[in-house]
Amino acid sequence: MNHTPLQTTIAGSLPKPAWLAEPLKLWSPWKLEGDALIEGKRDAVRLAVRDQEQAGIDIISDGEQTRQHFVTTFIEHLDGVDFQRRETMRIRDRYDASVPVVAGPVSRTHPVYVEDARFLRAQTTRRIKFTLPGPMTMVDTLYDDYYRSREKLAWQFAEILNSEALELQAAGVDVVQFDEPAFNVFFDEVRDWGVAALERAARGLTCKTAVHICYGYGIKANTEWKKTLGSEWRQYEETFPLLRNSSIDQVSLECHNSRVPIELIGLLDGKDVLVGAIDVTTDEIETTEAVAATLRSAARYVAPERLYPCTNCGMVPLARSVAQGKLKALAAGAALVRAELSRR
Ligand code: ZN
Repeated sequence: MNHTPLQTTIAGSLPKPAWLAEPLKLWSPWKLEGDALIEGKRDAVRLAVRDQEQAGIDIISDGEQTRQHFVTTFIEHLDGVDFQRRETMRIRDRYDASVPVVAGPVSRTHPVYVEDARFLRAQTTRRIKFTLPGPMTMVDTLYDDYYRSREKLAWQFAEILNSEALELQAAGVDVVQFDEPAFNVFFDEVRDWGVAALERAARGLTCKTAVHICYGYGIKANTEWKKTLGSEWRQYEETFPLLRNSSIDQVSLECHNSRVPIELIGLLDGKDVLVGAIDVTTDEIETTEAVAATLRSAARYVAPERLYPCTNCGMVPLARSVAQGKLKALAAGAALVRAELSRR
């Protein structure tokens, strides 16, 4: 790995072009079908790569242009989950959603994103990151009528994710990231089996492994939830010590414009820290100075080689022009602090 300090990356998703999917929406339906959809998704990946490269992002994602949703699209490719059957369930302990039903043993009969990863690898010479949902977040987005145990289902998903992740690595992926927003909610489960299941998903990987834990997109259920969390958000205090002792290399977290006390990242001693310096819940594009200020405060607790400027979460629900502006702001803020550090 390159040890230039403050290598920039994004949490994962970017908005899709308006000709591919309806903008400003989660679970936005595709506007194309069949071969045109396959080609359209690839064209969108090319643009996502180009936008990141032009902005100056170092570790490139496919912007999740080939998926409708970061959890359900992966699950759609698995056996054992019935998408015709829906149950309404409280997810993230926060809001009710109509979710598909686990109706039998879950399995992965074919690779899900491996072709997408090969395609991304061919589009850029920079390092690439690929995201997968984490086991606990997958469990928390389904109604389980078969295992009837969140832990048992999570272990099944961990094995499935591991097969997928190993193939992504073989396709040339430099960082495999598991998205686990559920880690910010179910602390007992994180301790009892969540981190262990995550490690199972990452078993045998020699590329970098990451986990992303956030407070979610800027949707109403999340902003209402955030209002109940008090003046200091200390959720990370529960999980970071467990992750510090885990085999996972990198932790991606929400920081800018949040009430997370920055000193909590000190609990991740020895890990790479992907500090969210871009708010994904507003259309306001951060100034270079605002990004730099977040990074400077993080640099008090994390060595610069281990500090990766990042976004708070995925940018899929934002306008494209806003996301493009935020990518540039992220890279500019990182460049400013990198220059300051080199003068020290
Ligand atoms: Zn997130």
